[in-house]
Order: sequence, then C-alpha cells, then structure tokens
Amino acid sequence: MAGKVGFIGLGNMGFGMAANVLKRYPVIAYDINPEPVRALAAQGAEAASSLAYVAAEADTVITMLPGGTQVEQVYLDAGGLAEAARPDQIFIDMSTCHPGTTRKVGAALAERGAHLLDAPVARTKQAAIDGTLSIMVGGPPELFEACRDLLRTMGTDVWYCGELGAGEVVKLVNNMILFSTVAVLAECLPLAQAWGVDPGRLVRILQSGSADSFAMRHHVGQSVLHGDLGPGRFSVAYALKDTGYALELGDAVGLPMPLAMLTKAKLQEAMGRGWSDWYYPVIFKLAETITGRPFRVAEAEGGR
Ligand code: NAD
Repeated sequence: MAGKVGFIGLGNMGFGMAANVLKRYPVIAYDINPEPVRALAAQGAEAASSLAYVAAEADTVITMLPGGTQVEQVYLDAGGLAEAARPDQIFIDMSTCHPGTTRKVGAALAERGAHLLDAPVARTKQAAIDGTLSIMVGGPPELFEACRDLLRTMGTDVWYCGELGAGEVVKLVNNMILFSTVAVLAECLPLAQAWGVDPGRLVRILQSGSADSFAMRHHVGQSVLHGDLGPGRFSVAYALKDTGYALELGDAVGLPMPLAMLTKAKLQEAMGRGWSDWYYPVIFKLAETITGRPFRVAEAEGGR
C-alpha cells in the first residue's frame, strides 16, 4: 500500500514521473528548486517546503536526484529523511548512484525500522512523461511486490534485480554498455565520412546489418544525424558520473575495465570543451574538431 506518496527531485525525469504517480495517488512534492514544485502543485500535488515535512506526511517517499552526493545529503544529513523516518515507512530511491550509497542509506533507514528499495530507471525524459520507463529494482522481494503498483504508474517494464543495490548494478552496467557503444560509433562513423561516405547513407546501411544497435537507431539516427544534441537530456556530466560509478564497481572486485576508461576519456574531453550540459552523444563532435565536418544528414535529406 503506497498511501500518500512523497516525491523529492522534480528535474528532467522526476517531474514527469511524479505527474504520473499523481494520476493514481496523492503526492507531496519537494525540490530545492521551487519552480517545478509550483508546476506540480498546479496539477494537484501538495507542495512541501522541507524534506522533514515530506517524511512526516508521506507513507511512501520516492527520491529522484542527480546522483550519490545528493542522495547522501537528502537521506543522511541533519534534517534529512533518515532522521525523520518512521517504522515501516517505505523509501524508494530512483536516482542512479553507486550501490554502496544505496546500502549505506538502507542501513540508516533500517535503524529507524524503515525500508528502502533502489529503483533506478532507463529510457528518456519522454518515457518519464509517457510513463513508459524501464525500472530496475533491488531490495526485499516482498517490498518489491508491495510497491509494484506504484512503480507501474511510472514504467511499463518493472524488473526485480535482486538484493538492495542490485537495481543500481544492472542500471550502471546498462549505461556502460550503451555509452561504450556510442563512443565506438563516435569514432567509426566520422571515419567513414572522412573517407567520403555520406552520413545518412552510411547509417541506413549499417542499421540494416550486424552493426545495428539501439544507439545506432536512437542516439545516431534520431539525434546525432540531425545535430540535435542540445541540453535538457542525459548530459555529458551525468554520463561521466555513471561511468565513474561503473569503474568503482570494477575496482572493488579487481576487474579491469579498459573500455570504460576509454569512454571516460572521451566524456572528459567533451567536458573540457565546455559541453558538460549537452546530450552526451555530443562526443561525436570531438571527431568534427579534427575532420572539420559535422556528422549530419544534408538538409535535403531531412536534416533539422
Ligand atoms: P535533473 O538534474 O534534471 O533533476 C534532479 C532534480 O533534483 C533537480 O530538480 C534538482 O533541483 C533536484 N535536487 C538536487 N538536489 C536536491 C536536494 N538536495 N533536495 C531536493 N531536490 C534536489 O536530473 P534528471 O535528468 O531528472 O536525472 C535524475 C536521475 O535519473 C539521475 O540519477 C540520472 O542519472 C538518472 N537518469 C536520467 C535520465 C535522463 O535521460 N535524464 C535517464 C535515466 C536515468
């Protein structure tokens, strides 16, 4: 039973997610930025002015924050959620962070008799708005079952991954595979262009063969080819954050991750060029700085 739902973190992803929860449950909303709180209140949510208020009023509390630093602040700092947690209250952290952070927060909540699930999400801001996210959940199976209906308001695919932190592990591995795929595409596609092959034709041909992938169809086909790489989506800074967490997971078990390190170097180079807020496939532009040619379809072919 989700009851009254607290929702903390109404950014690119959290706002759409909270709006979908609001269609089925009463919502108490909080963000350090008052603007999205006001916007959600206009849709019928109750606006909260502190974390403590959300913790006191909500039966279930969802957090959707940038990363581990903010998750620790919101849960563990003085005046944070753990301090105010009640026995049997449920918390669901949907931010992408290191599973070690999740377990630390879980232990602090357990001291108060409260419970935690990690439930990071995959897919886009549009999927958050449409309620079609893929949600990867870690924690006790019975808690997962108790929260399934609530999670289904935000996602079409809700996966049980294992013990607390397992959702984060699956999410970070998902991201590392995707980022590395985008990184290799950002290397090879401009290479073919530099050797005279037209970008639009190249992508059409590769999409019909063994080099096709989600990244080829979505990141390249829908964004890179159209020069559509501006801010407001999953940024270089966030991709670098998650790559850092994935590398820490490797370090912790002594597994070398050289491909992740190369991807990290490309993301760092993009940061150095001032593209930290841009959509992370902007790493395609690193080749452009050498070839002098943007990897885009011609206007006549539907370029935007
Ligand atoms: P965002 O930066 O747009 O939103 C984060 C929100 O948290 C902001 O509104 C910010 O004001 C708020 N916030 C920060 N610190 C806070 C605090 N101490 N107390 C209360 N509110 C606070 O980020 P996002 O794009 O919505 O991503 C959220 C999480 O989802 C991240 O972990 C990200 O890695 C992950 N994610 C993002 C995408 C995407 O496409 N953007 C996709 C999948 C997963």
